[in-house]
Amino acid sequence: MKLSERGAIKSAIADGGFHLYPAGGLVQIISKGLEGDNLQGDFDTNVTVEKLKRVSGPADSDGKEIFDKDMSLLVDRMSKMDSNYDIEEVFERMATSLPALAKRYYGIENFEPTKPEIVEYFFEGHTDIYKDADWSAFNVSTSESKELGVPVGIYFKRSQVIPGIPEYVTMHEANHMMQEAVALPKGYHSYVPWMDEGFADAIGKMMLFRATENEALIRKVKNLRTDLDVTDPRKVTYHYGEETAILTLLRGRLPFARALMAIRQREPFSVDWNSYANLIKEGHDPHVAIIKSYTGKKLDIFRKKLDSDEKKFRGEKDLDQMDLRVLTTFAATEAPARLPAAEYKTSLWLIDEINKRPNPHYVDPEIIPTNFRGKIEGWNQNEAIPASKIPAEIWEKAPETKIKILIAESDIPENFKAGIDKLAPMYFIIKRQIGEKIYYEPYGGGLPHRIGTGEVRCEY
Ligand SMILES: [Zn+2]
Repeated sequence: MKLSERGAIKSAIADGGFHLYPAGGLVQIISKGLEGDNLQGDFDTNVTVEKLKRVSGPADSDGKEIFDKDMSLLVDRMSKMDSNYDIEEVFERMATSLPALAKRYYGIENFEPTKPEIVEYFFEGHTDIYKDADWSAFNVSTSESKELGVPVGIYFKRSQVIPGIPEYVTMHEANHMMQEAVALPKGYHSYVPWMDEGFADAIGKMMLFRATENEALIRKVKNLRTDLDVTDPRKVTYHYGEETAILTLLRGRLPFARALMAIRQREPFSVDWNSYANLIKEGHDPHVAIIKSYTGKKLDIFRKKLDSDEKKFRGEKDLDQMDLRVLTTFAATEAPARLPAAEYKTSLWLIDEINKRPNPHYVDPEIIPTNFRGKIEGWNQNEAIPASKIPAEIWEKAPETKIKILIAESDIPENFKAGIDKLAPMYFIIKRQIGEKIYYEPYGGGLPHRIGTGEVRCEY
């Protein structure tokens, strides 16, 4: 199939490495810069790249500077991307692995995967009520089939297909089918988003990795959540629910989660599911949380049944180290701090300056090991040393020297002064005095690490 421009752009964004947080905001900036083009058209490598180059971005010069860096990464990735994407091959590959995964995670024998369908809109050929919905995929369950007048199945919207994501979404949607068998009450539509979506997400990701063992794909799914889904309030609630599911799995493991699903199917109204989710987030053991959330009158019987279910499931497969690694990859990702473009730009400048070799700035005299001090002409503890005066031997034998590079206040260019004045009181960098002069020490407040781990990103 042909990718849409939107799908191709999102795929490039999901590969990570952008300054803007959330990087998904680029889609809106691009769309706005192209007079509201919704980017639903076909992706054509050359045509789309030329189009992207026309987007001018933020009006203020600081924001524009960071935007240009982001766009050059985006354009570079897109110019190497194929506009054709073999989604059928992905579906077939996932279908092959699903029966074994259904057995492993849900105890379901002979699971029959449904082949997903690709539609131009939801639900093409059946109803136009959800024509404008932008979900990437939708699993129509047996009860939804009656309500929506759409055949049971998994539907993908073509303009929302992002390479790498159908693998994951196929797993997520297949989980809904498995839940229909073991977790959903029979005969009517019951939707508890944190539980249905949360387990579909959490278990779907473990399945994805078990089926593909593809680290890049896991990273991509992670970035999709942290940089693209966060721009969509509905998807944010998925993240919230997934966290409850992950905490349940980490604390109670798979046998408990399956016992929980059995309760949901057997007696969905004897538990306050919102209370359970809140207690889990507050830190309770899931065994305690479920008992506290019981709303019926026969607690002893409820407790006995729960115990016997859990015991029975303990005889089957539980999570292993690989599952735990995948799960924890998606646990509780905090949004990064966002710096305004002027401060962010200043941060990038500081990092560039301290990385220059030979270095044009200064070094803290105290960092020079005692036995080397004699090799530096005029070494004096009350005077920062010009980096150029430090012999190569010291840089090499005392690597700590490089984290004590200081930039003199008098060397800060005019356009970075305001940024520096914001960074120092936040302790992102250290402002200090040696002798009579004022210096800034970027590593002192950990700035290069904060930018390097992605805990600080830019807003423009
Ligand atoms: Zn879902």
